[in-house]
This record gives sequence, C-alpha cells and structure tokens, in this order.
Amino acid sequence: MNLVFLGPPGAGKGTQAERISGIYGIAHISTGDIFRENIKKGTELGRRAKEYMDRGELVPDEVVIDIVRDALVDEKCDRGFLLDGFPRTVAQAEALEVMLREIGRPLDRVVNLSVPDEVVVERLTARRTCRNCGRNYHLVFNPPKVEGVCDVCGGELFQRDDDREETVRARLEEYRRKTEPLIEYYRERGLLVEVAGDGDMDEVTQAIQEALATAAPGG
Ligand code: ADP
Ligand code: ADP
Ligand code: ZN
Repeated sequence: MNLVFLGPPGAGKGTQAERISGIYGIAHISTGDIFRENIKKGTELGRRAKEYMDRGELVPDEVVIDIVRDALVDEKCDRGFLLDGFPRTVAQAEALEVMLREIGRPLDRVVNLSVPDEVVVERLTARRTCRNCGRNYHLVFNPPKVEGVCDVCGGELFQRDDDREETVRARLEEYRRKTEPLIEYYRERGLLVEVAGDGDMDEVTQAIQEALATAAPGG
C-alpha cells in the first residue's frame, strides 16, 4: 500500500503515520524527520533546511524532492510507503506523480487529517520531541512515563524551536497558502480520503484503518 498523509502541522500525521506504517508493514517517510536528522548531524542539507524551518517556512521544492526520490528507491519501500509531510506544494505533488510513474508504484490513497486551528496550537505548543529517536509526546494528551525522558529509547525530550506559538502561526499560514490546495488536487484524482483528526489517538487510528479498508476510489 502506498499512502500520503496530508494535514496541517499538528494534525497528528507523525503519530498516526507511525502506527499505520507499523500495522501495514510499510516504510514511514517523514521529510521533517529527515531534515531534523540532518540538522543534528550538521550536514549541508541540514544547514540549508534549518534557515527555513526556524522561520516556519517551507524548504524549497527542489531540495525536498531530491531527498524523497532517494528515500523512495530504498528497498525499505518494497512493501509500500507512507509519505508524512510530503508533498506540501502542488509542484511537489506533480514531481511525486512523475517519480511514482517512473518506478511503477502509484499512490493508493491520500489521507487528509483535518483539525481546527485552535487544536493545532494547543497540540504543538505542548509537543515534546525525543532528541534521540524523534518520537513525539504531548504534555497533557500523551505524556511520557518519566518527565523529560523518552519512553522508548530513554532520550532527552525537548521543545522544537518551530513549535513556539509565533512560529506555529507562520506554519499554519504556509499550510493554508501552499499545502491546502492539495486537498482539491487529490480529490480530483479520486485518491482523497478525509478523516477527522480531532478525536483521541486510538479513535483516529481506527477511523484511518476503516477508511483504508473500504474499496479503493474507482475500484
Ligand atoms: P504532525 O506530525 O501532524 O505535526 P504530531 O503527530 O506530531 O503531528 O502531533 C502533534 C502533537 O499532538 C504531539 O504532541 C502529539 O503527541 C499530539 N497528538 C497527536 N494526535 C493527537 C490526538 N489525537 N489527540 C491529542 N493529541 C494528539
Ligand atoms: P509538522 O507536520 O508538525 O509541520 P514536519 O516535521 O512535517 O512538521 O515539518 C517541519 C518543517 O520541515 C516544516 O515547517 C518545513 O519547514 C520543513 N518541511 C518538512 N517537509 C517539507 C516539505 N515537504 N516541503 C517543504 N518543507 C518541508
Ligand atoms: Zn526516543
């Protein structure tokens, strides 16, 4: 199964992508995680991406498209993939369409997770991320067992620079302007599945599974 998760920042894409990719045994590709790993390692890619991320802006299309191309040809994607946070612009979606045609692996579904803006701000300002493995927690809705420590790997939890309220607002604006048009783009192609993202985490996982289990649009 080949999937894309769309949705505003804080919709729960990362949380649900982790679960759904595990359930279906497919590769989870998060462009945000790839950038953060590169920033941590101090690579040239990381240095370039950080400038934009810190301002809450999107990284330029050509930079993102190249890293996704590399990720998709990896053997980890042989059983399918789940793209989390890509595409985020119409140009990225068009490039993806071409790449997937070339490798003969068309998309099966695009899941749009929708949540209201107030929920986005409430979720992101209380998000904490593991410095070591990248897993996400929430101070109220999904707290770690021990404060400040990752349940899974024991790594230190921190607040992403771009999860401060000001930057969250900028990211929401970028989302409205550049990413939201993709909902229509994928609806026109008969791939869109809409799922409400503001229930609790298990409810949302359930709703995504149900949506994916129904007959593919158009067949
Ligand atoms: P995204 O990848 O779309 O930015 P995340 O999966 O990182 O979103 O979730 C954003 C924040 O909201 C995290 O702190 C996460 O723990 C929390 N969160 C995710 N899903 C839910 C939910 N259904 N209910 C409450 N909090 C959630
Ligand atoms: P969230 O879903 O919470 O917004 P991500 O981890 O997906 O967070 O993305 C964090 C930042 O990384 C974005 O604000 C943007 O600067 C950059 N980024 C990630 N994916 C893309 C993409 N496909 N195109 C452009 N920029 C991206
Ligand atoms: Zn961890």
